[in-house]
Amino acid sequence: MTRKHHKPDWVPENAGAEFTTSVMSGVDGGHDGLPGQTRQVPPRTHIPRRRRLTVDEYVAGVLSGDRNVMAQAITLIESNAAAHFDMAQEVLRQLIPSTGNSIRVGITGVPGVGKSTFIEALGLHLCEQGHKVAVLAVDPSSTVTRGSILGDKTRMELLSRDLRAFIRPSPSAGTLGGVARKSRETILICEAAGFDVILVETVGVGQSETTVRSMVDFFLLLMLAGAGDELQGIKKGIMELADALLVNKADGDNKVRANAARADYNRALHYLAPATEGWRTKAYTCSAVSGDGIGAIWQVIKEFHQQITASGVFAKRRQRQTLDWVYSMVEEHLRTSFFNHSGVGNIRAAVEQAVIEGHLPPTVAAQQLIHQYENY
Ligand code: GDP
Repeated sequence: MTRKHHKPDWVPENAGAEFTTSVMSGVDGGHDGLPGQTRQVPPRTHIPRRRRLTVDEYVAGVLSGDRNVMAQAITLIESNAAAHFDMAQEVLRQLIPSTGNSIRVGITGVPGVGKSTFIEALGLHLCEQGHKVAVLAVDPSSTVTRGSILGDKTRMELLSRDLRAFIRPSPSAGTLGGVARKSRETILICEAAGFDVILVETVGVGQSETTVRSMVDFFLLLMLAGAGDELQGIKKGIMELADALLVNKADGDNKVRANAARADYNRALHYLAPATEGWRTKAYTCSAVSGDGIGAIWQVIKEFHQQITASGVFAKRRQRQTLDWVYSMVEEHLRTSFFNHSGVGNIRAAVEQAVIEGHLPPTVAAQQLIHQYENY
């Protein structure tokens, strides 16, 4: 079989940290459990730890749902080396026909709202129902390879031991665009491996909500009762991204307040444009600790899935997201290429100064810089 190794143009020539992955010992070996939990991960396959896999082995391993190979394929995707990049793209190209068969759910909310407790409760609930659940994180500020999702060893302890679940921390820090690319490609690997529910946790740092929204079907905003919208950093903009609001910690003394908050949010939502055409965003309550409301929110997600699949909105959104992804990579490449361009670098300071001093209109300045970029 002949294969075309085509290197896409969008990889920045002077790629920065976003294309860097620190492959730490133990990660490339490919188990996805917690350090010190090797007993709980499935037995290794026959593939020796250090031998490099071929493209065919990656593809076959992922398609057979081999967690070991999956983890290695994701490490390949996260790698910075040019050879790894080409190989990862070839693996993805072959896996693409087997991707897409999942519901992708984004989960956001301020730190402490209960995201990981909720994801564990929902994940276990889904595993019990026979689903295969992948949990990923998007955290552009993450500097540790194992990332925030597993930074605290107590997080999702039960779920991380469940063989029907696969947990992968955020790729290490880089630009949001770089982290997002890796996360999107990781979603595809998980789908090709047969995971039918993908939970993507976002760490609430401004833009990452929009980025995660752009890669999922359903976006869930976790809230707290009585914390005040300001405190929760919940701006109208983020509520408008959500397909459901879920007031967590509706247990004990907090239950009454949680119900009141749900009613308040439902009133506020009435005035907002829905995030998804044909779907009404509503507020619900749950307790991630007691499990109350976990089954109910999954029913909401299922109903959403059925409804927007039937209306065609699901397929349309997926198509638009894929094209948006293409153009966001093009934009990122062009931006990097422009700012690394030596011709541009030669005149930038002078042009900026002229603009600041009012000698040069901004539009003319932009034209001069672009002319320089295109011609020198
Ligand atoms: P994250 O930072 O959003 O991932 O939040 P965590 O899942 O780490 O939860 C923060 C704290 O809230 C932990 O101490 C949890 O035990 C607690 N917590 C999470 N969910 C609930 C809940 O439903 N009820 C109560 N009472 N506490 C909760």
